[in-house]
Amino acid sequence: MNLSLSNQVALVTGASSGLGFACAEGLAAQGASVVINYNSHAEPAEALAAKIISQGGQAIALGADVSKEDDVERLFEQTLAKFGALDILVANSGLQKDSPVGEMTLEQWNKVLEVNLTGQFLCARAALRQFRKQGSKRDVSRAIGKIIHMSSVHQIIPWGGHVNYAASKGGVDMLMRSIAQEIGGEKIRVNSVAPGAIATPINASSRAGDGTEKILKLVPYGRIGDPEDVANAVVWLASDLSDYVHGTTIFVDGGMSLYPGFQDNG
Ligand code: NAD
Repeated sequence: MNLSLSNQVALVTGASSGLGFACAEGLAAQGASVVINYNSHAEPAEALAAKIISQGGQAIALGADVSKEDDVERLFEQTLAKFGALDILVANSGLQKDSPVGEMTLEQWNKVLEVNLTGQFLCARAALRQFRKQGSKRDVSRAIGKIIHMSSVHQIIPWGGHVNYAASKGGVDMLMRSIAQEIGGEKIRVNSVAPGAIATPINASSRAGDGTEKILKLVPYGRIGDPEDVANAVVWLASDLSDYVHGTTIFVDGGMSLYPGFQDNG
């Protein structure tokens, strides 16, 4: 049993807050050198990098908008310049722009698809190209590279008022599985993690007031998730403990995807 990520380099997108932040911390705790990507909030990303370094680890905070091809290319170049290699990508960045479908603007639709789906494609492509360049020479893990997409229970649960978000996460599922099918023979592992309701800034407004109570009706296990619940799954997927896990989604949702409304016969 070896969860260690020593001598490996991990890049986590959208890691200045929430799940990405917890993933970067979790990967560093297992010995990985970590690139903490942020879009607009440099300060928490830089503070996390400083904390990891003060604990004896290696980290750097790098800004980039994952929906922009040039930014993504620069992010990967800077990662290589700093650490000389890449072994793990956690494509985590995501956002919501909510609206009833009849009122949803094209701007709201495009923004969510650009970040949540195009961003995942651009980062996965850049990681794949780097893994191919490195080949098996690095010998730090059984796979030559690992890609972990941050999806959502909404890759399978339709979500009224959030059709752009649900469509983007459904897209992430097919993106992940299609990449996994295409390149698995190259010993590159590709998987997703699909969180349910995890307490982070993305859902702070829906947890306000009696929001948490309402959300809990959708969670058979009876609690809101912590970012660490998701980070634990990501770390495992990045490690050799999951070496035979490829092209699948790990749901970290307290049972949200079990259609809890049917518990009492629907
Ligand atoms: P969050 O808002 O704290 O984190 C999202 C991160 O994405 C932020 O750090 C933000 O800066 C970054 N980001 C947004 N646009 C970006 C861009 N253009 N380029 C680079 N980074 C960008 O929320 P979170 O809950 O931590 O979300 C992380 C991921 O988890 C998202 O993909 C989200 O869809 C997914 N998710 C979250 C939950 C939940 O309950 N919290 C549930 C399912 C899925």
